[in-house]
Amino acid sequence: MKVELDRGKYRDKSEDENMAGSNLSLSSNSSLSSRSNITIVYDNENNEGFTNGWGFSCLIDTGETKILFDTGWDGCVLLHNLKKAHISPEEIDKVVLSHQHWDHIGGLPVLLKIHPDIEVYVPASFSKRLKDEISARANLIEVSEATKICHSVYTTGELDTDEKGMKEQSLVINSANGLYIITGCSHPGLTRIINAASQFGTVTGIIGGLHGSTDYKMLEGMNLIAACHCTVHKKEIAMQFPDAFKAVGAGWEFLIPTD
Ligand SMILES: [Zn+2]
Ligand SMILES: [Zn+2]
Repeated sequence: MKVELDRGKYRDKSEDENMAGSNLSLSSNSSLSSRSNITIVYDNENNEGFTNGWGFSCLIDTGETKILFDTGWDGCVLLHNLKKAHISPEEIDKVVLSHQHWDHIGGLPVLLKIHPDIEVYVPASFSKRLKDEISARANLIEVSEATKICHSVYTTGELDTDEKGMKEQSLVINSANGLYIITGCSHPGLTRIINAASQFGTVTGIIGGLHGSTDYKMLEGMNLIAACHCTVHKKEIAMQFPDAFKAVGAGWEFLIPTD
């Protein structure tokens, strides 16, 4: 199915959601007013001028910290799309890898060659050989439990999947409107991912690959469903959630107000 991409910037103007209690104490009552800019820089689909390819990568710029979530497969495509989005690889502070599939980690070596001092957050269950390779070239940080990455950005921690030996983490971005989840392939399933994110508050949006998930009820009430990459049931999701669904690809960016 070919879905027309939304090319404009997404701005959410709904009112503050009440943040539920969290043992990681999200700083929702800070008086600082800022915005996080989220740009998809690798996807199966693309906006004009960007290159597509099987995989996913997304840049989150909080204003203070630039986080690259996943790296796609082809480092050259990743660099091209970063350049097109006016993001310098040297400015990236941290990389978070969702899971160890080739279409999410393949761009990492090229990035580390340019910028070897970067922090790379990986699920602790990554293979020892892969962790050894990364730690030889970068500052490896292993993630097991939910962890703060920087102001307003958290990881769910590694979540179980049905595939043996494969765990996956998703990012959670705290905004004035609620929480946005950035997910790689969603192998743990929407129920596990959204339940894990919900410990921090109310989830208002999700961006990334939703794989074959049919847990559509978990998406109810969201105001943004940017289902892309490996999402099998885009058409069904678009039909069930016509207002929230956005067809997106590499080059799509939007702003969310953080606290
Ligand atoms: Zn995968
Ligand atoms: Zn994937």
